[in-house]
Amino acid sequence: MENIHKPYYKFSDYLKERFGCRVHKVSVDAGFSCPNRDGTKSKDGCIFCDNKGFSFNVRMPEQTIRHQIKKGIEAGLNKFKAEKFIVYFQSYTNTYAPVNELKEKYDIVKSFYNIAGIAIGTRPDCVNNEVMDLIESYASDFEVWLELGLQSIHDKTLQLINRGHSYSDFLETYQMVKNRGKVKVCAHVIIGLPGETKDEIMGTARTLANLKVDGVKIHPLHVIKGTKLEQLFWDKQYKPMSINEYVDLATEFLEHLWPQTVIQRISADCPKEYLVAPLWLLEKNIVLQKIEDKIAEKESFQGKLYKE
Ligand code: SF4
Repeated sequence: MENIHKPYYKFSDYLKERFGCRVHKVSVDAGFSCPNRDGTKSKDGCIFCDNKGFSFNVRMPEQTIRHQIKKGIEAGLNKFKAEKFIVYFQSYTNTYAPVNELKEKYDIVKSFYNIAGIAIGTRPDCVNNEVMDLIESYASDFEVWLELGLQSIHDKTLQLINRGHSYSDFLETYQMVKNRGKVKVCAHVIIGLPGETKDEIMGTARTLANLKVDGVKIHPLHVIKGTKLEQLFWDKQYKPMSINEYVDLATEFLEHLWPQTVIQRISADCPKEYLVAPLWLLEKNIVLQKIEDKIAEKESFQGKLYKE
């Protein structure tokens, strides 16, 4: 794929090229837990993580997962005129359970006829060869993405935000998955983490560019009610970015990335009843438009600063 004349390589464009039709992602909460919340790594979780509804290994009934997929497909068919779907196991750590339980939950996808792919969101320290044997077993019928929460390549930041894993954990898992070769990897990163300089943020972009990661989700850090970050915000120890700061940083981040990395997301969704700050996050279309305008103003594009 050549994206050189496009501002950035949007996921919607990738999906259209790949599947020849409109594809909609259906997000599922399959009732998994997280080692950074259940006390295995920590009880506090990442400082930005919303713990509403967090459940300690509550087993989600099969029917409930099936129902979520069915509802998501209905919405995608009616609202977005989608023809195919990717089921995204999104909430918490979706590889954090015994393999037989993972299989039981992932297998539910097989009973829907119009599923093109599966995406599994997880932490870099919760993926091993046994889990990958299972995940890769879906790759003959579906496009499979592993979505790895990285957030930053800087360990001092990862410690500050209480991630409970290091950059080398990410790298090890990334290389293991890529060496096996059947599953695409999407790295999640956050722009605006406390204490990070612009150069450090761009360091994360350059590292992901060198890795030629298949996909990236870029989020602006935002404060959700009930999180540790909210305390820091009210104590004036954390100041959220302005929309213009975010737009400038996100645009430059794209310039450093590998041109063929698919940008799965470049803003964030947060229901307004949970959002503390910054409130511009609620105007997602404005954020996206401003990024496109900035790219045009700079005569820029994804990969402009990328060096082979
Ligand atoms: S790894 Fe994910 S689910 Fe776990 S505490 Fe961090 S953000 Fe929350």
